[in-house]
Amino acid sequence: MIKLNSHYQKLQSGYLFVEIARRVAAHIERGAGRELIKLGIGDVTRPLSPAIIQAFHDGVNEQAEAKTFHGYGPEQGYAFLREAIAEYDFKRRGCPISADEIFISDGAKCDTGNIQELFAADVRVAVPDPVYPVYVDTNVMAGRSGAWKDGRYSALIYLEGRPENSFAPGPETLGAESADLVYLCFPNNPTGAIASRELLSRWVEWALKNKALLLFDAAYEAFISSEEIPRSIYEIPGADTCAVEFRSFSKTAGFTGTRCAFTVVPKAISIGGASLHSLWNRRHATKTNGVCYPVQKAAAAVYSPQGQRETKESISYYMANARLIRKAMQEAGFQVWGGKHSPYVWIKTGEDSWSTFDTLLQKADVVVTPGSGFGRMGEGFIRISAFNNRDKVEEALERIQKIFSA
Ligand SMILES: *Cc1c(COP(=O)(O)O)cnc(C)c1O
Repeated sequence: MIKLNSHYQKLQSGYLFVEIARRVAAHIERGAGRELIKLGIGDVTRPLSPAIIQAFHDGVNEQAEAKTFHGYGPEQGYAFLREAIAEYDFKRRGCPISADEIFISDGAKCDTGNIQELFAADVRVAVPDPVYPVYVDTNVMAGRSGAWKDGRYSALIYLEGRPENSFAPGPETLGAESADLVYLCFPNNPTGAIASRELLSRWVEWALKNKALLLFDAAYEAFISSEEIPRSIYEIPGADTCAVEFRSFSKTAGFTGTRCAFTVVPKAISIGGASLHSLWNRRHATKTNGVCYPVQKAAAAVYSPQGQRETKESISYYMANARLIRKAMQEAGFQVWGGKHSPYVWIKTGEDSWSTFDTLLQKADVVVTPGSGFGRMGEGFIRISAFNNRDKVEEALERIQKIFSA
């Protein structure tokens, strides 16, 4: 008789955004007086920039002519894109990464979700708390989580982010636990925390000593505005033997609906004598035929001088929103984190996350994300996203300030 993968029954989330949608729908049904402003979801709002759109169109036109038509491309991505990435994102920053260590894909969500299948069912997994839920749920599906008990999975190790560690836990957070796979996300979603060179060096040192692997999600690296803060784990010596890095054009260049990302698997990583690069290459070539050619052309245009200029402008726009959010929430009397090198502002509410969510929804018609949806350590916080139009952000902040000054 056919049987389902029973691990799926242990999945808890889906709950967060379903619950947000339920409360928002109920609020609208009761008759919200004003336009609802959504500062909850982590999705960009600005269109693809002119340089990117031009390259995208050029790619589409090439597909219309027999002479320039492209069928299946290399599974790992076209050399023109992998070489631009290697040069611009890595070599220029002194990172020892070459084009053939870069795998183009349609998303960092699927790559961060798929990477775990290269490892044994009994490896010990450490995840941040608060967490980007993909790291947890994909390990639940694969049977690595143990049972759900008291709001946590019994076999996962949680790296607790707190105000005291600036939401940037180091290897000491593991205590006596020994982890094999460690997911790190900097700049962090949802807290907006960044990792200093010193913190990343400690993680790399720890991984080398413990023969562990770091899975470094750098989806928000483009929001880093200080040269002191590493944009890539490979800026740390030795990381090319113990870390995989995930990047995406989603937040960097507005590709959330266009889909292009990449994963770096250095050839120097050896696990039990096997090359992780060869394994990921085998998996990738088996399970995907790569990313749409015009999309890869569009992604390569991000690295052109015009593409760089436009992309930086867009990020500056969002970061100006983030500054406004930080300032307004501080003035309203809250303690805030993030929003300096990240589009997310993380706010301590002084009550439970859902209560603040409800207050903002009912009194300000503003939707935010309750921190508790990202894990136990998120309780008592909310996340406000800077991805929106300036006038919407300003309007939302005015409404919020009115509640808290009253
Ligand atoms: C948005 C995001 C991604 C990117 O996902 P894509 O599938 O490339 O759109 C990856 N990691 C985190 C933490 C994110 O917030």
